Amino acid sequence: MTFKSLELPEPLLRALDKAAYPSPTPIQSLAIPLILAGHDLLAQAQTGTGKTAAFALPALQFWADANAKSGSQASHNVHTLVLTPTRELALQVASAFGSYGQFLTPKPRIHAIIGGEETETQTNALRKGADIVVATPGRLLDLYGKQEIHLHQLALLVLDEADKMLSLGFAEELEKLLQILPNKRQTLLFSATFPEKVRVLTLKVLTDPIPVRVEQAAPTLDRIQQRVIEVDTANRGRLLRHLLKTENWAQTVVFVGSKRAAANLATKLKKDGLKAVAFHGDLDQIERVAALQFFENKRAQVLIATDIASRGLDFEEISHVVNFDLPRSPADYIHRIGRTARAGKVGMAISLISAESAAHFKLIEKRAGIQLEREHIPGFEPTDSPIENEAAVPNKGPLPVKGKRKSKKDKVREARLRVAASSDGL
Ligand code: AMP
Repeated sequence: MTFKSLELPEPLLRALDKAAYPSPTPIQSLAIPLILAGHDLLAQAQTGTGKTAAFALPALQFWADANAKSGSQASHNVHTLVLTPTRELALQVASAFGSYGQFLTPKPRIHAIIGGEETETQTNALRKGADIVVATPGRLLDLYGKQEIHLHQLALLVLDEADKMLSLGFAEELEKLLQILPNKRQTLLFSATFPEKVRVLTLKVLTDPIPVRVEQAAPTLDRIQQRVIEVDTANRGRLLRHLLKTENWAQTVVFVGSKRAAANLATKLKKDGLKAVAFHGDLDQIERVAALQFFENKRAQVLIATDIASRGLDFEEISHVVNFDLPRSPADYIHRIGRTARAGKVGMAISLISAESAAHFKLIEKRAGIQLEREHIPGFEPTDSPIENEAAVPNKGPLPVKGKRKSKKDKVREARLRVAASSDGL
């Protein structure tokens, strides 16, 4: 399938051409025709699948059509509202709308309405007109209460990462918003998972939705060089600093297992003269945005992140991804390393494995269907002997069944790894 066959208008095709997207991703091929046909959508898709364009392209087309009909830009009435759980995602989505819509004339007025920024700046912008609004629920309600935002003619509502929105406690705000929004609208709900809470929400917000589901997009593994370095737990921090300096890694994301480990490692790297920032859920919004901006502007070489905080991290320039602490699952491994090699670039993913985590990594390799060579770096050769377990050594007991519930032993091992991660000698 091509974007042309999706019958998108020429200005949008031009923007896709400029972005050098070769063809629609599966979620785009499935969702765009359904959205253009006016259906509500219940979409299971994660970050990395191209879901943003899946809703942004039809939204822009709808807006352009409506605008052409009304003859002038309908002044203050928001046409499309996208709700997101985090400021970072709101900014990314708003910027995606901007780039897909760059060749439309007139251009839609797109605003990110998010907490943690001056309200006045946002109200001043809104007063000049608003077509597409990407918002976190709290600030949106705030501005609505002040009559700074006009939602009574809303045509399209998108709930992006609905599961995260509910797990972050936005249920009440969503409820309030739904009472404000016109009933006659088209609604698209995107979520990576569908726990009970999300299912209840779908019943409230969607009308005869069409379900669409895609698997996580496989990152372009062929452009990612994967390395595995064996090192003692106590030497991982020193090794990381050594590699950052001697191999001249550019924009590096280091994944750790806990907020504390992220903060500790950032402090250690900074003491060593490296420019590092921590990025985790304990930072307030201003600190999180500052950390991301620092990294994006290349004033920081290293971003030390936890899995949760990094959901949705999408910078084209990430050159290296380091698994300082190993991810829990093969899916997380693929998701983490897929932060690099974006937009046609090449990237490198480095996993540091120690005696404690060797067996866990073997399991990740087995389930992900990969097998990687182990490397030793001179001066950092491991001295601890691997701690074996039955999961990694088939002749020492039964092989674990895929999807089997964790045994007590697994849980103890994981707890040990977590402790090691947060109190490690970095
Ligand atoms: P998303 O899942 O919306 O966060 O998108 C993930 C990444 O995929 C973003 O960097 C997009 O720029 C990129 N992308 C979206 N659609 C396509 C496409 N059809 N071909 C290639 N890359 C795409």
